[in-house]
Amino acid sequence: MAEVKILIAGYTSDDSGEEKTCATITLVKDKNIVMVVDPGVLESQEMLVSALKEERLGISDVNVVCITHSHIDHYRNIGMFPDAKTLEFYGLWDKNTVDDWDEQFTDDIKIIKTPGHDSTSITLLVKTDKGIIAICGDVFWKKNYPKKDIYADNLKALKESRKKILENADWVIPGHSGMYKV
Ligand SMILES: [Zn+2]
Repeated sequence: MAEVKILIAGYTSDDSGEEKTCATITLVKDKNIVMVVDPGVLESQEMLVSALKEERLGISDVNVVCITHSHIDHYRNIGMFPDAKTLEFYGLWDKNTVDDWDEQFTDDIKIIKTPGHDSTSITLLVKTDKGIIAICGDVFWKKNYPKKDIYADNLKALKESRKKILENADWVIPGHSGMYKV
């Protein structure tokens, strides 16, 4: 079974009225895979370094960084991990080369395309001892939020992507808050 741990719970400027936003930053471990999903945008990258340290991990232990979609609040810190591969909609990058990914990325990590908020959105469905956790970026920003996504590329596709996630997962890690039960 894979392990999933939120390293830094995300937030949006809606939470406080302040103009502050960060994506939820999540760690996924499965056999030899140590993956950070959405390295986010932070006041200080030191925050992510220490969150990893609490998991007894250094920067060089992370071998894959996943970007759920191409909005900068989700990927600004990707340069922190120069040696990790990058998993995103178009492929699995190793430095400047790119390969297609398999939908079944590992035995316990499945990748599905979930367009709507952004045409490049992917979701990880991770099999854990708690059940299946969907790490979905901004398909949901928070629990059932927003009702109407004003940034969505395609509201019809978004609706279908949300349905697909809710049908396939027991838990959701949304783009900008902690995890919730489906
Ligand atoms: Zn977004």
